[in-house]
Amino acid sequence: NVSLCMEYRIALLPGDGIGPEIVANSKKILSKLVENYALNLQITEVEAGDSALAKYGDPLPKQTLDIINKSHIILKGPVGESAMDVVVKLRQMYDMYANIRPAKSLPNVPNKYGNVDILIVRENTEDLYKGFEFMLSDDTSIGIKVITKKASERIVKVALKYALERNKKITCVHKANVMRITDGLFSRVCKEILKGSEVKFEEMYVDAAAANLVRDPSRFDVIVTTNVYGDILSDEAAQIAGSLGLAPSANIGDSKALFEPVHGAAFDIAGKNIANPTAFLLSVSMMLDYIYSLSKEIKYKHASNALQNAIYEVYKEGKTLTPDIGGSAKLTDFIDAIYSKIA
Ligand code: ATP
Ligand code: MG
Repeated sequence: NVSLCMEYRIALLPGDGIGPEIVANSKKILSKLVENYALNLQITEVEAGDSALAKYGDPLPKQTLDIINKSHIILKGPVGESAMDVVVKLRQMYDMYANIRPAKSLPNVPNKYGNVDILIVRENTEDLYKGFEFMLSDDTSIGIKVITKKASERIVKVALKYALERNKKITCVHKANVMRITDGLFSRVCKEILKGSEVKFEEMYVDAAAANLVRDPSRFDVIVTTNVYGDILSDEAAQIAGSLGLAPSANIGDSKALFEPVHGAAFDIAGKNIANPTAFLLSVSMMLDYIYSLSKEIKYKHASNALQNAIYEVYKEGKTLTPDIGGSAKLTDFIDAIYSKIA
């Protein structure tokens, strides 16, 4: 049982492109957090992705999987061409069924909506992404949408847990007026679990949710939804908050969790010391929050808050921002600015 462990073992995958430089520099910040907050983390670096494929003929070589097997948590940088092979395989191997995607605005990052703070909880294992697709004849293709009670229940419970730590409001997004059986089941599960809970909950059709997100994102707090809608709405929400490039994410299961930036390997700017590590650092903060939720040891929450506050401070000052958001700072300058602000 993970929650009884005192030491948290983390497999760190630097990944490809800008991944290695982001991860290498971010270690300085992790070390400071470990020291200042006496965190009990055992971090082991492993190879995965395009570079591992080139070197070992496998984007997830055996020695990497051996370490991951013994770890509680996977913290990864962006992976290049083999991204899907890595993350989809890990997601399936460890049944990491909840995809958590916060969309939170940052000072000095242009956005049309002011303060945005939404958490999207997306089911990660079924729906149309299950892969049940085939040709019925030469010119007719079929894809099967799978929605189960079990997967719906566990994702709604995850959303409830997050909502209780936030503003106690959940929007369940589906399209049960058209897909009465599949989305109908998801809708029923939402009602069963959330009625009588401490959270305020509403249901919203996915088309209305897409429109309401751009009209007034402040009306949302936690959104829980099925796989396909969640995929689309989470990109929309991240962009509304400012930039998809700053978005962190988590994949959470009952035995393992994986934290990673949403952005890709960005080979065009790799090795130039100009990559923005914000999405990775916010993923680290999500990881610390997750360890807090398992351990109930408050120091992990404090460390997460310290990291988030340092990031917000650096953005608020606006002096040391990277070129992707209009600044002229180097990756290493940005890291140093955050480092110096960690209390
Ligand atoms: P993928 O194939 O997964 O889409 P990608 O390399 O195209 O990966 P994206 O995340 O789609 O990467 O990013 C598109 C572009 O945005 C990159 O080519 C890069 O110029 C820029 N970008 C992405 N992430 C960052 C970052 N962390 N810092 C700076 N620029 C970034
Ligand atoms: Mg791309």
